[in-house]
Amino acid sequence: MSEEPRSASGERPPKPRPAPILDPESAPYWSAAHEGRLVVQHCQRCATHQLYPRDRCLSCRGPVEWVEASGGGTVYSFTVIRQNHTRPFRDQLPYVVALVDLEEGPRVMTNIVGCEPEDVHIDMRVHASFEAVSDQASIVLFAPNP
Ligand SMILES: [Zn+2]
Repeated sequence: MSEEPRSASGERPPKPRPAPILDPESAPYWSAAHEGRLVVQHCQRCATHQLYPRDRCLSCRGPVEWVEASGGGTVYSFTVIRQNHTRPFRDQLPYVVALVDLEEGPRVMTNIVGCEPEDVHIDMRVHASFEAVSDQASIVLFAPNP
């Protein structure tokens, strides 16, 4: 395994977050995020919203379609990560891993960005933001509402 290049000061350049592998079920989600849109699956039979992507509704096995979500959510729970020796995550310490309840219903695991970890709290209102991680995909993060 080759060493990564280092700057004159010996620091390695920041490493990008891992990019998702697009498959037929998840590609619409990642592509929409890359366009700055949060989408969720909507059951055409029972109207349940779900995320992460599956080929059928988890509640009734009915067919699903992609619909645009509001982008709004509420912090259900969170933790502050202060130790992680794996790149690129150690470059981002400390960071917040959170479960966010989307307005449409699904609960997603994400990061809270745009504020200090100490400012995050349960029931905090947040909105989706997007970070490109490849030419085809962006990941969805959440930031506090203004
Ligand atoms: Zn259903």
